[in-house]
Amino acid sequence: MNLQTLRKLYVNQLRDIYNSENQIVAALPQMAAAAKHPELKKAFKQHTAETKEQINRLERIFQSMGQDPSGKTCEATLGLIKEGQEVLSAKGDDDVIDAGLIGAAQKIEHYEIANYGTVVTYAKMLGENQAANLLQTTLDEEKRTDKKLTVLAKTNVNTDALEAYPSESYSESDSGGLSFLSLLLGAAAGVAAGMLLAPGPGTDTRRKLTDTTNSWKNQLTDTLGNLKGGAKSGQGKSGSSATTASTTSYNQEAGI
Ligand code: FE
Ligand code: FE
Ligand code: FE
Repeated sequence: MNLQTLRKLYVNQLRDIYNSENQIVAALPQMAAAAKHPELKKAFKQHTAETKEQINRLERIFQSMGQDPSGKTCEATLGLIKEGQEVLSAKGDDDVIDAGLIGAAQKIEHYEIANYGTVVTYAKMLGENQAANLLQTTLDEEKRTDKKLTVLAKTNVNTDALEAYPSESYSESDSGGLSFLSLLLGAAAGVAAGMLLAPGPGTDTRRKLTDTTNSWKNQLTDTLGNLKGGAKSGQGKSGSSATTASTTSYNQEAGI
């Protein structure tokens, strides 16, 4: 890559953005199809149309410079879309998946906001005023989309997701830990039983072993109970999960 001048860097970044937008315009209809909340579906559809126009603006800019827009792959967008695909292919509660789609989309919008903010600045410095105006129009659209997604998340989607009953996800994510503890409980009892059945030095030792075994069992049962109680009280319709609340706040609080 030749970066001897700011103009070369500007063109290079525009090519990256052009590739990014083309990846996004292919992914957005899938997100619109997957979204269950009507407003979210509508927002993705509207942004698909906007993105087509954004690609059009970039092509006009390249045309005015006599440059080819192709030739670069935006690796960041590849990665962001790959993450989004994880949500698209997920099974679970519709509202939770919608919340995941918003999170994935906002990561992309924030990347685009950073990209367009940078090239608007370069265009102004290089005296490319018409291009700067076109790029600013797109930057404003990306910011509006991001804000719209934040409002949707905060007023509807995230709150609906919080109320999702944690039936399947709870058993999938936590049963492994609980099974492991159950296994430990069984193993502890088995080991102790084996020791009790084995030829021993006398009744005193056997009584101590019995006491120790019961103590293990009680401790493990308490731990098991706490885990089950904790997992349930942190989720569900009336539960207020500190983890969920803080994650939501971190993702969608920062306004741009
Ligand atoms: Fe865009
Ligand atoms: Fe990129
Ligand atoms: Fe966008």
